[in-house]
Amino acid sequence: MATENTENNSFFQSVQRNFEKAANHTNFDRGILDQIKACNSILRIKFPVKIGEKIEVIEAYRVQHSHHKLPCKGGIRFSMEVDQEEVMALAALMTYKCAIVNVPFGGGKGGIKIDTKKYSVFELEKITRRYTSELCKKNFIGPGIDVPAPDYGTSAREMSWILDTYSSLFPNDINAQACVTGKPISQGGVRGRTEATGLGVFFGVREACSFKEDMEKLGLSSGIGGKRVIVQGLGNVGYHTAKYFQEAGAKLVGLIEFDGAIYDENGLDVDAVQAHRKTTGGILNYPGAVSYSDPAEGLEKSCDILIPAALESVIDKHNADRIQAKIIGEAANGPLTTEADEILHAKGVLVIPDIYLNAGGVTVSYFEWLKNLSHVRYGRLEKRFSENMYQELIDIIESTTEKQVSNLERKMILRGPDEIDLVHSGLEDTMIGSYREIRDIYVGQQGVEDLRTAAFVCAINKIGVAYQELGIFP
Ligand code: NAD
Repeated sequence: MATENTENNSFFQSVQRNFEKAANHTNFDRGILDQIKACNSILRIKFPVKIGEKIEVIEAYRVQHSHHKLPCKGGIRFSMEVDQEEVMALAALMTYKCAIVNVPFGGGKGGIKIDTKKYSVFELEKITRRYTSELCKKNFIGPGIDVPAPDYGTSAREMSWILDTYSSLFPNDINAQACVTGKPISQGGVRGRTEATGLGVFFGVREACSFKEDMEKLGLSSGIGGKRVIVQGLGNVGYHTAKYFQEAGAKLVGLIEFDGAIYDENGLDVDAVQAHRKTTGGILNYPGAVSYSDPAEGLEKSCDILIPAALESVIDKHNADRIQAKIIGEAANGPLTTEADEILHAKGVLVIPDIYLNAGGVTVSYFEWLKNLSHVRYGRLEKRFSENMYQELIDIIESTTEKQVSNLERKMILRGPDEIDLVHSGLEDTMIGSYREIRDIYVGQQGVEDLRTAAFVCAINKIGVAYQELGIFP
């Protein structure tokens, strides 16, 4: 696993370099740029947890990168790779991501340095609850302060432990449910959050592939249908991304997991691979596919679109040259090192950057936070009203045309929006609109060489203006 960034910059430095490259294309005062770049608050904690008969000291972090908008927002990661620099880099990416998709939050991120496979569910719960109470003590969590969400190694289950711990410490907070997002529906979660990041990745790549002239430069036709796709990481983000690509008519030629990679030119079925993984304990030896025990090999196989959806720095200066994909969709945060980015750029690969492409998660988290603050499910007020209006419309059409609308048509037209419809359409609109904003900068602003720089320019412009209009405290 190439998560160790041994090149001449760390993940955080590489984010800072991307920022500086873009900052050259903006007109902000150096002081404003420095303030945008800086991590505003960093919490590093060590706390004891009783594991079996032993006491273990757990290392954990929460970083609030930017307070230009509150609350701060960003996931919590459970992984042995967690360290302060990694969490700082991820928190910074969250600030830029939120700005790009017009979500009014500052960036944040949390991490606990543990190998989740070594602990029972009960022990993971103890660690998560203790971490949450530390965040409460230090004022690093709250609906208006800092709102975590799932990330690598965490899911709705951990979010419900966080909510329960927060609520028990702040029993009078009527907005307690908004202290964390990505929760189970029964705990105030919003429908559509689980698949949001993967669906957002799909919407983003689909939008990129819709520009005929951009695809022609890559020697590809426009549209998703028939495109050959490889996905690395079949967790929350990767699985849903793969599923949406498959449903849209793309061919999943390669899938990569911890234990290795599988490749089949004729296409793989992601659910069948998941079922195989469940019964055999891994993806290798999936019937009909070629297996590679080194997962990194899977990245280098022939495809049109490569989606790294695992961890950072998986493509570096050592393997970048062997990547055959024409489009790389960064579903994971920071999957390319700076050197890899340069090599791929020189090869003419279109890289759709993380700070835009995986923003579906935070976009739907924003919808969840709004739902929690308003204490009402999306669609509850308008669903019946819309259905009645559509019914009246059908009645008018039928009486004026003297034709009957078929039962199937009636069923389609009459349905008022449910929460899931509203969330998916809000996400689709966000991903399409933001891609166009970034592409306009890329195509229209001289010297902006790639989509990543364009995305950073887009973010810096929005945050810079916010700081200017906020005024700096004297
Ligand atoms: P996850 O824990 O659900 O899944 C990650 C998967 O990657 C696991 O199945 C793991 O076995 C696999 N994996 C790990 N190392 C691998 C390797 N070297 N090769 C192949 N597979 C490997 O995590 P996730 O939530 O899907 O997050 C994945 C990435 O997406 C992270 O970079 C995360 O920061 C980013 N992200 C997640 C969200 C979200 O909503 N969950 C939002 C934005 C960005």
